[in-house]
Amino acid sequence: MTARIREFLKQRTDDGPCLVVDLDVVRENYLNFAKALADTKVFYAVKANPAPEILRLLAGLGCCFDVASVAEAEAALAAGAPPERISYGNTIKKETEIAAAFGLGIGLFAVDCEAEVEKVKRAAPGSRVICRIHCDGSGAEWPLSRKFGCEPAYAADILEFAHKQGLVPHGVSFHVGSQQHNVEAWDRALASTAAVFRACAERGIVLAMVNLGGGFPARYVRKTPKLESYGRAIFRALRKHFGNAIPETIVEPGRGLVGNAGMIEAEVVLIAKRSPEDDVRWVYLDIGKFLGLAETIGESIRYPIRTTKDRDQTAPCIIAGPTCDSVDVLYEKTPYPLPVSLAIGDKVLIEAAGAYTATYSSVGFNGYPPLRQYVI
Ligand SMILES: *Cc1c(COP(=O)(O)O)cnc(C)c1O
Repeated sequence: MTARIREFLKQRTDDGPCLVVDLDVVRENYLNFAKALADTKVFYAVKANPAPEILRLLAGLGCCFDVASVAEAEAALAAGAPPERISYGNTIKKETEIAAAFGLGIGLFAVDCEAEVEKVKRAAPGSRVICRIHCDGSGAEWPLSRKFGCEPAYAADILEFAHKQGLVPHGVSFHVGSQQHNVEAWDRALASTAAVFRACAERGIVLAMVNLGGGFPARYVRKTPKLESYGRAIFRALRKHFGNAIPETIVEPGRGLVGNAGMIEAEVVLIAKRSPEDDVRWVYLDIGKFLGLAETIGESIRYPIRTTKDRDQTAPCIIAGPTCDSVDVLYEKTPYPLPVSLAIGDKVLIEAAGAYTATYSSVGFNGYPPLRQYVI
């Protein structure tokens, strides 16, 4: 926890769970990306946390933006980013959305099939397109599965098709899966990417850019490699597969830019034993899967949870949210150690909660308001 967040929480008088994001940490993260991945432009994945204060800070630092919808594009523009610094990275767009983005001045779109190329051709003629290739996501705690990206061997056909439709085939993108622990995960994707570059070159199409995606981790319970290790492994892979002709590169971090900048303060609502001899207690918080902690689905993301009693002896707990839905259980398969002295009404701090929380909160399930967010 940063001193600024500690001070803010001390002064706070309102009730209910809240997320506090420290902009100083976001700034530091941005500068770290610039250092660890020199010559690589950073496109912030807006979906991770679209708070206007975060977008304004990043826009002011010269950051670019990866958006998935017209509303996200408008938010980036409102924060001061010119349209040339915005990439529409979602491969699943309505033609009306492409037209609206084009109307806002955006001219870079991701595609992963011919039908999407046709839409871009009609709604955003002459634009640059990036073809997204599929990655298996192994090594990631929050993999992106087969939903996105074509088979790498098909990408040159799609880019050639785009060329014939009057679009500009600009490059290749991939995403190695979010919260990626393996710094070598980019190697295989870059091997495929280099093959697409060669296949296109044989057809007279010169690609310019590789979009290395996101996947850079935030530190949760499990230790993660340092950002510099990712930078070094990626650069090694670029050299290995592209030799001296390394193309222009960009990254699209979401979690890696804002994850560790935010912390949620929540409260213990109930501690229950289901039978007198039960040694695993149920701890119910005033936050759960529906109020911002959706990434505990499958117990994928294991947040560090701090209490004021962390020096005391601990015992395994099942942690759950307050809503009347039985899926609203955070950790049960792997119970979570919490102090035996933890009591109803105690505050708990959920660390590294700056990404994929506030926007994942429901609008009013069971009457609970969406997670409140303060950006300081
Ligand atoms: C979600 C997403 C990102 C950000 O991923 P992180 O793992 O949070 O860094 C980047 N690019 C695209 C296309 C995405 O969908």
